[in-house]
Amino acid sequence: MAVLGELAEALRSGSVEVIDLTAPLVDTTPILLLPEPFANTSRFRLEQLSRYDERGPGWYWNDIHTGEHTGTHLDAPVHWITGRDKGDVAEIAPGRLVAPAAVLDKAGADPDYLLQVDDVKAWQAEHGPLPDGGWLLYRTGWDARAGDQDDFLNADETGPHTPGVSVECARWLAEEAPIIGLGVETVGTDAGAAHSFDPPFPCHSFLLGAGKYGLTQLRNLQLLPPTGALLVTAPLPIVGGSGSPTRVLALVER
Ligand code: MN
Repeated sequence: MAVLGELAEALRSGSVEVIDLTAPLVDTTPILLLPEPFANTSRFRLEQLSRYDERGPGWYWNDIHTGEHTGTHLDAPVHWITGRDKGDVAEIAPGRLVAPAAVLDKAGADPDYLLQVDDVKAWQAEHGPLPDGGWLLYRTGWDARAGDQDDFLNADETGPHTPGVSVECARWLAEEAPIIGLGVETVGTDAGAAHSFDPPFPCHSFLLGAGKYGLTQLRNLQLLPPTGALLVTAPLPIVGGSGSPTRVLALVER
């Protein structure tokens, strides 16, 4: 088809650039830490099977150990009790995984900042409606902390302090906005303090309950325009999975 030929040429010539929004997976990749008595996810870890040695003289390979929600990952609706009947990560239609993205930049806001409906409406007044069937990517600059677990979770005696979304805005994004999901730079789509909100973890509760998705631990959002990027989001088709580590690529016109 002609449009794909034009895209291939644009990629080759550099007039369309591919930007990687994915955090590298290493054993120090930050993970969520829940307090007792809750279960916690695994860190990413490589377990070497052979490396050109007696276990495999001509080849190198590893087993990987990881949580579904480790590193840059997608939350499927079934991740939350409100979305328990709305599908696992393998059931996401592939056509939904290539979608436009809107980027809302709140970098520099304080660590407890909560995105408001008025912020999104102000963005729309400047840039137009949120993309139907697309992503809202919420930039906070938090990816600058991704090299250090403590910096990334930013916890004190009152719990973690990382930016997120207000209860009212989460409800609005789930019920009023045409988006398929919300992408963030933090360890989860909800604010660090969202355990104390009513309802707790409103992005998870409302968005996943509406059959929408979450994308976390994104980086390089500062390289994207407010509108016009096309996201290719590739979670593994883990049957029954509540989410998956995900490669997220953005196609951007230069
Ligand atoms: Mn998650």
